Amino acid sequence: MNYKELADLIFPDAKEISYYEEKYPERNLPEGAIVSRFAPSPTGFVHIGGLYQALVAIEASRKTGGVFFLRIEDTDQKREIENGVTDIVNSLKDFDMAPDEGMISDTEEIGKYGPYKQSLRKEIYQAYAKYLLEQGKAYPCFCTPEDDEERRVKQENAKIRPGYYGVWAKCRNLTVEEMAEKIKNGENYIIRFKSPGREDRKIKHKDVIKGNVDFPENDQDIVIIKADGLPTYHFAHAVDDHLMRTTHVIRSDEWLSSVPLHLQLFHELGFKAPKYAHISPIMKNDNGNKRKLSKRKDPEAAVSYYKEEGIPVNAVKEYLLNIANSTFENWRRANPDKPIEEFDFQLNKMSVSGALFDMVKLLDIGKTVISKMTAEEVYEKSLEWAQKYDKELVDMLKDKEYSLKVLGIERGNKKPRKDISKWSEVKQNIKYMYDDNFEEYPYQVISDKESIEKILNLYIEKYYDENDDKQTWFDKIKELAGEMGYAKEVKEFKANPDMYKAHVGDVSTVLRVALTGRTNTPDMYEIMKVLGKENVINRFQKAIKEMEK
Ligand code: GLU
Repeated sequence: MNYKELADLIFPDAKEISYYEEKYPERNLPEGAIVSRFAPSPTGFVHIGGLYQALVAIEASRKTGGVFFLRIEDTDQKREIENGVTDIVNSLKDFDMAPDEGMISDTEEIGKYGPYKQSLRKEIYQAYAKYLLEQGKAYPCFCTPEDDEERRVKQENAKIRPGYYGVWAKCRNLTVEEMAEKIKNGENYIIRFKSPGREDRKIKHKDVIKGNVDFPENDQDIVIIKADGLPTYHFAHAVDDHLMRTTHVIRSDEWLSSVPLHLQLFHELGFKAPKYAHISPIMKNDNGNKRKLSKRKDPEAAVSYYKEEGIPVNAVKEYLLNIANSTFENWRRANPDKPIEEFDFQLNKMSVSGALFDMVKLLDIGKTVISKMTAEEVYEKSLEWAQKYDKELVDMLKDKEYSLKVLGIERGNKKPRKDISKWSEVKQNIKYMYDDNFEEYPYQVISDKESIEKILNLYIEKYYDENDDKQTWFDKIKELAGEMGYAKEVKEFKANPDMYKAHVGDVSTVLRVALTGRTNTPDMYEIMKVLGKENVINRFQKAIKEMEK
């Protein structure tokens, strides 16, 4: 009995690896093109950190004329959740991040390097496991759970490194005959990698993001094929990223310590190793403590949160790019109107430690992103969001022509309105422009009732003309202030506060509150235009009545 025969006994039907090597040739891409991937497991909701990784991989590949693909790592079938794959595919689509290759639904895929779902690649992993077995670089292990437990306890008691290595690797030293015998007797087994490493030797690794790191060599005989015939993450990573011709493995830095093992696997399989870029997790400031964004504690950890809140896709992406490259902020300042796709993203400029998640900043970006949209875009996007999450807003927006005017107030000019940061704020921010909703606003008394009444009456009777241009309109408000004995300019008021009771700004506020129920709104001139004469007068009269109560 030799290794070859043992390998045949274990995987009689596996193909030669040359078959796969030819089937998945080197990619014909320009020099320097990055091939990268997003490789999630469908085991829970899509985490914002996952989206971040995917975005980084997309940026790196698209900027270099490379390829970005989506691979589903579903080899841990016990942990799989329902709709896991669909959620991943749809999350990428929602953020306009659909892959060039890979899974495009639960069952469909595009690209020539598939299948892109690991559970469908069983025979490929087995071919490569057989290849290692043939060379004596892997072996069947017959240890039972009881054996593993016994080893663990012994190691713990003796305070030595846990794991299956060296003298602890019980099955490593079985003869080929003994192995064959056990298999023929129907004993259960898994396949382990026979590590050539030594713990007392070091390897040097240069990570694209983390820079130079030293590690002890791997000496663990890790499992490569589990009892269910599927590979472990480590083995699938080596086989897949080789066959899919990945140039850069961009992944979470929780995998950094596995690099010695992964490099060893690549080496023993005779593959050229990819470059690794390990991304730091997004952190959260929790009462002064920095910790990872947590699936359990933080709603904003789930990608679905952003969709439900209606935070614009481009704001989320822009925010993530901000975290990814500290040069983004300056670029944005210099290029306020360029699409984010034009930013020159650099993988090696990623920060080594985890950035703090800042919702205030994200929402601020949301405001800017929305301020640059046309009224039509804001209308369409709010409506799309509302159809899923807010029927009242759908109802409010049903008169499209009027809504476009409302959303068009102070938009499309040099300093557009910046009051909406997410679609879930639209209703609150434009409600007062709709009569159905106006009734419910409590009238805020911001001056004495008598003055308010006088201002409103004077305005309707003497100063309001719906045909006035903006300058004339404002001059009239000043005149009205003068007539009331208020300062016509805020400056004047500040210079001589004792001479005046109030100033032109207070007159504006009285008008504004009467019209909208708010002290703060976009441009009042435009609001009056959109509401129209009849409505403006009605609202003022309603306020006057209110003052008479
Ligand atoms: N399935 C692994 C994970 O979700 C992928 C890691 C990788 O990108 O290689 O953590």
